[in-house]
Amino acid sequence: MKELQVLSYHHLLLRAKWVVPVDSPSILDGAVEIKEGKIVRVGKFSDLFKETSQAKLIDFGETIILPCLANLHTHLELTSFRFRIRPSGSFFGWVKQVIKLKEETSPVELKEGAKLGLSELWREGVGIIGEVTNSGLTLDLVCQTPLYGYIFREIIGFKGGVKLQPLEDYFSKNRIKTTYSAHAPYTVSPLLLQAIKAYTKKRNQIFAIHCGESKEEVEFLKTGEGAIKNLLKERGQWNESFCSPGLSPVKYLASLNLLDEKTLLVHLVQLEKEDLEVLKRHKPKVCVCPRSNLFTGVGLPNLPLLLEAGLEIGIGTDSLASNTSLSVWEELKTLYSAFPDIPPEIFIRMATLNGAKILGYENLGAICPGYLPNLLVIEVFDYLTDNPQEMLSSLLNAKKEVLYRFYG
Ligand SMILES: [Zn+2]
Repeated sequence: MKELQVLSYHHLLLRAKWVVPVDSPSILDGAVEIKEGKIVRVGKFSDLFKETSQAKLIDFGETIILPCLANLHTHLELTSFRFRIRPSGSFFGWVKQVIKLKEETSPVELKEGAKLGLSELWREGVGIIGEVTNSGLTLDLVCQTPLYGYIFREIIGFKGGVKLQPLEDYFSKNRIKTTYSAHAPYTVSPLLLQAIKAYTKKRNQIFAIHCGESKEEVEFLKTGEGAIKNLLKERGQWNESFCSPGLSPVKYLASLNLLDEKTLLVHLVQLEKEDLEVLKRHKPKVCVCPRSNLFTGVGLPNLPLLLEAGLEIGIGTDSLASNTSLSVWEELKTLYSAFPDIPPEIFIRMATLNGAKILGYENLGAICPGYLPNLLVIEVFDYLTDNPQEMLSSLLNAKKEVLYRFYG
């Protein structure tokens, strides 16, 4: 893959058989003009070429130009766990394997793995990430890359008693935002969940939390019993003052006032009919991680229902403790084959514009005037038709490669 960092003196006209702006219809024989570090025009090549004499023309031939991808949920410090944990039919069988391997792996190995993970993301065309770290090992690595996004310092503490020191003092790179996130409704005490939400709210940041991932999570919140209680006790994390709320994960978070448009719920596989009304009311954002869900044996999220509820949905790979690659493309392919009635453009939007908007980037994730020129040139190893729907279908299904990427 070749790449170019777009600087203010570049004046470029990029042409390809297809340009996919995402927030407007795909353009056959399309072009994108970049000037002064921004996208200034997008349209038919014949129109743009007539009016743009000064720009350097780069013709990418039979390819597709589209915005960079967003991977909203990674745990890069677990990259070295790839192929070392078995896919599981039991979520807690999987959790126990992860805990054991984490205890056996040195920080150096975790960090080396994270570096490989970052290169993999870059090769796949990811430009925006939502990275979760417990150790803090990935903070400086991510800040050294051209990626945009969040680094979430994930809090686990069912007994509570964690003091949230301000993070801004440590990292001030403006393309990467840092904040705290909560691991899950069953590993963070209710008061601590509210403290993390208050921290993010005060700074107008995203509050991210794994929610509704496994059946065991639902069982624990509804009855206070089951595999989760046993595991918390085993690990000395049981909180004697915890009373089971008797609610689904979504309703439990709503009861603690944690759901609003700045909350990002990761997974949301376990969903009850009544949860949908709660979600429609509070409009949290959603990140689905389908291949991770299949790996841990919890099933797929009900994407048609989530879309019907009008929620903004993005894509994440989760970590390589529960996946075989950090490819957003593979997530899209899995979802598209599970839900073939959903139009292909919805999937492309989830992986680009939705992801950018969910993490608060108003000038990324689409190709339109004023946006940053973070673009991918993709070669699809399939016949590239003149029909936009078929072209997007083959972009989702066929083997492909990022030939070139531009970033700002
Ligand atoms: Zn995760």
